[in-house]
Amino acid sequence: MSTPRPETEPTGEFSLIRWIRDRTAVGGSTVLGIGDDGAIVRPSPGSDLVVTTDMLMDGRHFVLEEAGPEAVGVKALGVNLSDIAAMAARPIAAVVAIALPSRHPRPIEIARGLHRGLTSMADRFGVALVGGDTNAWEGPLVVCVTVFGETAGRGAVRRSGARPGDVIFVTGPLGGSLLGRHLAPEPRVIEALALNEAVALHALIDLSDGLSSDLAHILDESGGLGAVLDASAIPIHADAVTMSGRSGRTPLDHALGDGEDFELCLTVSADAAARLLALPCPPARLYRIGVVVEGPGLWLRQDDGSRSTIHPAGFDHLRRPSDAD
Ligand code: ADP
Ligand code: MG
Repeated sequence: MSTPRPETEPTGEFSLIRWIRDRTAVGGSTVLGIGDDGAIVRPSPGSDLVVTTDMLMDGRHFVLEEAGPEAVGVKALGVNLSDIAAMAARPIAAVVAIALPSRHPRPIEIARGLHRGLTSMADRFGVALVGGDTNAWEGPLVVCVTVFGETAGRGAVRRSGARPGDVIFVTGPLGGSLLGRHLAPEPRVIEALALNEAVALHALIDLSDGLSSDLAHILDESGGLGAVLDASAIPIHADAVTMSGRSGRTPLDHALGDGEDFELCLTVSADAAARLLALPCPPARLYRIGVVVEGPGLWLRQDDGSRSTIHPAGFDHLRRPSDAD
């Protein structure tokens, strides 16, 4: 940590960067943090680097006027940490690029709020903020975070390893995140590392687009497999019930289709599933929602054994509402 300076209000780009730098701890994997042309990060010997980036835009992923900059900072790092968790990697460092809205009366206040949110999340997860880029423009706030992680134990877990007969788990109740949870992701970093240590995970993804569409990614990437989900086993968040009252869609529909739950979805062999469920202290909350089957398709099975097809309905940034299948 550099020597704390007297609390002065930053007024321009360079004093803002100074302000950020003075509040940023270095150590751990960071050889060189903020201040030079590039940061130097040293992953643990023998580990691979896992890199992920996500961009958040005012009006699309948050509404700055409603959420405030601190919550935006929490979300910006949180969604990236969720991706690192989805690889079962350990996050070590992050860089953040921001485009501040110059039309706003106090853009520097936005930058400071963002930084508070980012560091609260970074401190919780032991991530060093090692650099970034600061810009301003006539458009709305844009924040882009990149996180570097390192593999641990059994190594990274991909989407592509599911096998027929695998059991499918999710780590928490789903649906209705738009009521507020989408701004406060709880990245399942610790849970993913512990699960990967406990058993061999075949496939892993975080639920950002929505269960049906994220699970479809696992099935597609695993060579065109299918899945049968048990309707009564899918954990439904109270927010999904509230949303249902407003939307007229069922809570289950919200649990299957809404995005930004940031829980994990994983598949493991039936043996591994039994071992996980028998552990006295499971590494995560585990809801067994269904099984992977041969051949493509996604079905919902009711308790009476009847089945219906699920059409993945998650969010697609490039799809217009008028686009047909
Ligand atoms: P350059 O012009 O060489 O790209 P900058 O003036 O953009 O350098 O940045 C100076 C230092 O401050 C760099 O180490 C950069 O990573 C860091 N930095 C810039 N903006 C931010 C930010 N918003 N958050 C954290 N670090 C930042
Ligand atoms: Mg720069």
